[in-house]
Amino acid sequence: MNETLIINGERVAASDGGVFDVFDPSSGERLATVAKATRADVSRAVASAHEAMASKAWGGIAPAERGRIMNRMAQMLRDRTEALATLESRDNGKPLRQARTDVQVAARYFEFFAGIADKIMGNTIPLGPGYLDFTVREPIGVSAQIVPWNYPIQIGARGVAPALAAGCAVVLKPSSEAPMTALRLGEIGLACGLPPGVLNVVPGNGSEAGVALASHPHINQLTFTGSVDVGIGVAKMAADNVVPVVMELGGKSPNVVFADADLDLAAQGVANAIFQNAGQTCSAGSRLLVERKAHDAFVSRLADRAQSMRIGPGVSDPDMGPIISKKQLETVEGYVSIGRSEGAVVAAGGARPADASLAGGYYFQPTLLDRVTPDMRVAQEEIFGPVLAIVEFDDLDEAAELANRSQYGLVAGIWTRDINKAMSLASRIQSGQIYINTYGAGGGVELPFGGYKKSGYGREKGLESLASYTQVKNVCVKFG
Ligand code: NAD
Repeated sequence: MNETLIINGERVAASDGGVFDVFDPSSGERLATVAKATRADVSRAVASAHEAMASKAWGGIAPAERGRIMNRMAQMLRDRTEALATLESRDNGKPLRQARTDVQVAARYFEFFAGIADKIMGNTIPLGPGYLDFTVREPIGVSAQIVPWNYPIQIGARGVAPALAAGCAVVLKPSSEAPMTALRLGEIGLACGLPPGVLNVVPGNGSEAGVALASHPHINQLTFTGSVDVGIGVAKMAADNVVPVVMELGGKSPNVVFADADLDLAAQGVANAIFQNAGQTCSAGSRLLVERKAHDAFVSRLADRAQSMRIGPGVSDPDMGPIISKKQLETVEGYVSIGRSEGAVVAAGGARPADASLAGGYYFQPTLLDRVTPDMRVAQEEIFGPVLAIVEFDDLDEAAELANRSQYGLVAGIWTRDINKAMSLASRIQSGQIYINTYGAGGGVELPFGGYKKSGYGREKGLESLASYTQVKNVCVKFG
C-alpha cells in the first residue's frame, strides 16, 4: 500500500517526496508506505483550510446541509466497517472486534454531531428597556488536531466531527505509528461532499509535521491528544500565537472495588478496563484499589481471567493483540522489572508469551502486579500496556485518598452495592469522568470527556465539546 497526504481535496505526495514505513505490530512486517508531511506541506494544508473558511463553502452553508453531509460520512463509515476495522487492526494490532467497535463509534460521532449542526444556539441577555442583547456561536476557524496511535479512527472522529458540525475546517495529523484510518476518514469526507480544504490529513513525525502544525501562526484552535510531556510542549507553542488548546493527556485511572460489590461483575469490568487494546488506552483502569477483605477473592478472579486470555494477531480476533512497537514493548517490560524490584508480586503474566508463532510481533502477557504500595513508580506512572497495579485499602476515606494520590485525573470506576458509598466517593474523586458499577459506556460519544489535573483540560465528546470549536460573539442593540 502506498498512501499520500490529503490537502485541499487532493491526494498528494510530500513536497520533498519523503515517505515513511508503517509496520504491522502483530508480525513486525511492513504494512504500508506513507507520504511524510513536511513543514511546507503542513503550511499548505493550513492555507487550504483557511481558504475553505474564507470561501464559506462549509461554515457558510445551511447548518442542516452540513449535518446531511456528516450523516453521509457516518453511513459510509458503517458501510465500510469490515475493511476499516481490518485496516485498523493491522495498523494498530488491536483485536478485530475492538476495531469494529472503534469504527462504529467513529460513525456514531458523525451521526451525533450531524444532529447538532443546526442546533448550535446563542442566548438573549436581558439588559432592560431599549436593549436587545444576544449571542451567536461562530465557528472558531481552522482547527489543528494532533492524534495518537492507540485509537486512530475513534479519536480522529472525536475531534473532527464536532469541528465540522460547528463549521470549522480541520488539519488532522495522525501518529506516524498508525496513520492509515485517518487517511480513510479524509477520503470518506471527500466522497461524501466535504468541500476541498475542509478536512486535510497530514501524517508525519511529531518533530516535523507535529511541531509545524502546533506552532503554525494561522491555526485558530488546537486539539492535542497524547502524552503529558509532548502536550506541554505543544501548549507552549500554541500559546506563542494565542491559540486556545484542548489537552487530552494521559491517565492512571483507578478502579475502586469494595468488598460488597458483585465481584464477578467487577472482575469482568476491571479486566476489560486494563486489557482492552492491550492496556494502550488513555482511560485504562490501570490501578486497582481493592478493599483488603476482598483482596484474595477478587485477585484470584482477575488472575483466572488474565490467564485464560488468548493472545494473537489482531486480525485473528484474539482477546488481546500486540503492543504497538518494539520500543513500547520494552517500556512495558521495563516497568514490570521496576515493579518487581520495588517489591510488587507478579500474580499473573509478567513476560512475553512463550508461543513461538508470536515471536515476530510485540506481545506481552496480561499482567497483574500485586502488593503494590501507593508510591511505587508502577502505581504512579502511566505504563501504557496490559499491566494492572493492585493496591489495598481498608475504608472509604483511604480509598478516596489513594484514588487522588496521582498527578492524573481522567477516569475512575467505583464498584459497590451501596449507593451511599458510591456517591460519597464519586464526589471526592478528582477526575473528569466517574463510572459506578460499569467502566466505559460503548464509546461514550454523548458523555463529556477530559481530564482533571495533568490529564489535561477542555472537554471532548458530547455537547460540551462544541465550546472548543465555536467562539461567542455578543451583539448589543439599542433601540427606541
Ligand atoms: P505522543 O504524545 O507521543 O504523540 C501524540 C501525537 O503527538 C502524535 O501524533 C505525535 O506524532 C505527535 N507529536 C509528537 N511529538 C510532537 C511534538 N513535539 N510536537 C507536536 N506533535 C508531536 O503520544 P502517543 O504515544 O501517540 O499516545 C499515547 C499517549 O496519549 C498516552 O499518554 C495516552 O494516555 C495519551 N492519550 C490520551 C487520550 C485522551 O483522550 N486523554 C487518548 C488517547 C491517548
